Amino acid sequence: RLWHQPLKHREWNGTGSTAHFQDIFLGRCYIYTQLVQPEFRPYHMQHTFETKLLIFTSHVLSLRDRDCKKIEEAFRNAFISKDPCEVTEEDYHPLMELASQTVPCDKTVFWSRTKELAHQYTWVRQEMFTLENTLLGYVADGLTWCGDSGSSEMNYQSCPDWRKDCKNNSVTVFWKVLSKMFAENACGMVQVVLNGSLSNAFSKDSTFGGVEVHNLHPEKVHTLQAWVMHDIGKSPSDSCSGSSIMDLKSIMSKRNIKFTCQDNYR
Ligand code: NAD
Repeated sequence: RLWHQPLKHREWNGTGSTAHFQDIFLGRCYIYTQLVQPEFRPYHMQHTFETKLLIFTSHVLSLRDRDCKKIEEAFRNAFISKDPCEVTEEDYHPLMELASQTVPCDKTVFWSRTKELAHQYTWVRQEMFTLENTLLGYVADGLTWCGDSGSSEMNYQSCPDWRKDCKNNSVTVFWKVLSKMFAENACGMVQVVLNGSLSNAFSKDSTFGGVEVHNLHPEKVHTLQAWVMHDIGKSPSDSCSGSSIMDLKSIMSKRNIKFTCQDNYR
C-alpha cells in the first residue's frame, strides 16, 4: 500500500505554501495584465481615467501581451524540485527577464516597516509605484511558496522560516532579487516612507537598508527623499534628526546621491 501514501515532505519552521498558489498567481497575473481599467480597480491598483491613459498606456498596457502561463512556469522553475534552502538569485533570473517592467522616473516609492501607509499613499497618488504596484510584486505579495528536492510538488505543509531555518529560501531570495532590480531601475528623485514609531526608522538589516539603498544608481538617481512618519497619537521614537537617519544620510552622501528628509509629511 506504500504507493498510495502521500509523499512526505521535509518539515520546516515556517508556514507552508499558500493553498491554491498557482490559481492565485495566475489570477493575479491576469488581473494585472488584462483588467486594469477604470471600471475595475483591484487592491493597490486604483486608477483614474487620466492616469490610466498617461501611465498605463505606456507601462501596464504594454504588459497585456505578456503570457501569464509562461511567467508562472518561469516562477515555478526557479524553486520546484529544489532544496528550498538552496535557492539562488540566478534561479530567478529567467523570470525577471520575462516579467521586467520599467517605472517612470520620479515615481518609485520604497518603504520599510510602513507597508500599509506606503500603499495608501500610492493608492491616492496613482502615478506612483511601490514594488507591489509592479507585476511581480503584485502577484507574489503576501504569498508563501517552496518546493522540495526529490518532488515536483510544492510543499503545502511547511516552508523554511528565514530566521529559524535559512536565509537562502525561495521566498527571501525572490524578494531580494526583485527589490534589487526595482532599485537598479529607479531614476530621478526616489522616495522612501520610514516608520518613526520605531526606535530605528532606518535599519541596515532591512531589505530597504540592505538591498535597495545599495542598488540605486547614482548616475540615474539624483535624490532620495525620506519621509519619517509616526503613528497618530503616539509620540515619535525616531525622526529625521535621529541617529538612524544620520546613518542613511551618510550612506547616501558616500554614494553621491542627495538626501532630503521630512518628518510627518502631511
Ligand atoms: P519590512 O521590514 O517592513 O519588511 C517587509 C516584508 O518583508 C515583511 O513582511 C517582512 O517580514 C518581510 N521580510 C523582510 N526581510 C525579509 C527576509 N530577509 N526574508 C523574508 N522576509 C523578509 O521592510 P524591508 O525589509 O525594508 O522591505 C521593504 C522594502 O523591500 C520595500 O521597499 C519593498 O520594495 C521591498 N520588499 C517587499 C516585500 C513584500 O513582501 N512585499 C518583501 C521584501 C522586500
